[in-house]
Amino acid sequence: MRIILTRTSFHPIVQFRPRIAVLTLLLHADLHAPEHIGIRSLLLGGGQVLWVGSERPSLDAAIPHEVIDLAGARVIPGLIDGHAHLTGGGGEAGFATRVSPVPVEVFTAAGITTVIGVLGTDTVGRDAASLVATARALEEDGIQAYCHTGGYSVPPTTLTGSVRGDIVHIDRMIGVGEVAISDHRSSQPTLDEILRLASDAHVAGLIAGKAGILHLHVGDGPRGLSLIRSALDQTELPARVFNPTHVNRRRALFDEACELAKLGVTIDVTAFPVAAGEDAYSAEDALERYLDADLPRERITISSDGGGCLPVHDCQGQVESYGTAHPTSLSETLARLLGRGRSLAEVLPAFTSNVATLLRLPHVGHLAVGATADLVVLDSDGGPESVMARGAWHVRNRVQLRSARIPAWTSAPPASLPQE
Ligand SMILES: [Zn+2]
Repeated sequence: MRIILTRTSFHPIVQFRPRIAVLTLLLHADLHAPEHIGIRSLLLGGGQVLWVGSERPSLDAAIPHEVIDLAGARVIPGLIDGHAHLTGGGGEAGFATRVSPVPVEVFTAAGITTVIGVLGTDTVGRDAASLVATARALEEDGIQAYCHTGGYSVPPTTLTGSVRGDIVHIDRMIGVGEVAISDHRSSQPTLDEILRLASDAHVAGLIAGKAGILHLHVGDGPRGLSLIRSALDQTELPARVFNPTHVNRRRALFDEACELAKLGVTIDVTAFPVAAGEDAYSAEDALERYLDADLPRERITISSDGGGCLPVHDCQGQVESYGTAHPTSLSETLARLLGRGRSLAEVLPAFTSNVATLLRLPHVGHLAVGATADLVVLDSDGGPESVMARGAWHVRNRVQLRSARIPAWTSAPPASLPQE
């Protein structure tokens, strides 16, 4: 990399010129695509999977390439985090509690190679423009990043003036959300308001060939998912348009969500920490309950809520305590499920292919010829040992090779400059 110092008292602007082999050949990968394929070789180039086979292909030595023998290590598609606060969320206990933006290395360290950003409670101090810009920054830093227009509030904050316009015209925007329901921080939306948003998302999704979903933040309120049930009862809107998240925050809410999954709704579980005795299910408990109940396997996803806040409110809506959700919770949830003896074939779709199907992102969430070269090599504990995004290594043997171009602020300029 080349370092440009404009003034010695300023942090250096780091320009990355990563050395990328034209082709990468992975040998003896135990491929989970996410279905279990077995030991395979994978040829990657141009940011895509070019070839998958049982034999080792011969490559002309004149073509720059790297060969990595994975010796039977498990290879999975890069994880898709369908709900993260890219710009940082928070701010519910004063401006000083606003969370900082999440840099690319935090996602890739967790094996996340595609992320969907949302705005939450604060749609005033944060807006659609900054969310799109932050998604573009993550794209420049090497992963795939999309977002939803809007946020908790109704009418939603938009970029073009309408939900429909945003989804149709803004390349990064694929749906609307997280619109809050059953929550004291919501706009207390009526059924008609929810239906209008769902309709705009659905039709815009048809026009633009995008997800076109209404991603719904569900709070602790006893009304739970009643708005979605009413919408399905009273309209022609397809069930897939309604996508409630945080459905494991109350046990009865999760039971409600499972009933909706039977009707075609894809439900999203959040990988937040759950204390002993709490009336909630951890993400791994929720997924296991779902799988054991023999519900439609393609109708459940898990997201991190990374960068968002984890407030505890008192009965008057005041924040009692506060935490920050971390994208690592996604890879930790996967590792815990594997530690419980669950197979990758059972649990991996909730982190990969199910999310891609819901979000109409056919190039990610699976590993096959033509797919984006987003993959994770798992260690023996089921954690991300190496992570490739769009054909470039971001993590190798747990060493972070790439990070955001602008380093996080520190109290003093770095004593020594990073060198390649
Ligand atoms: Zn939320």
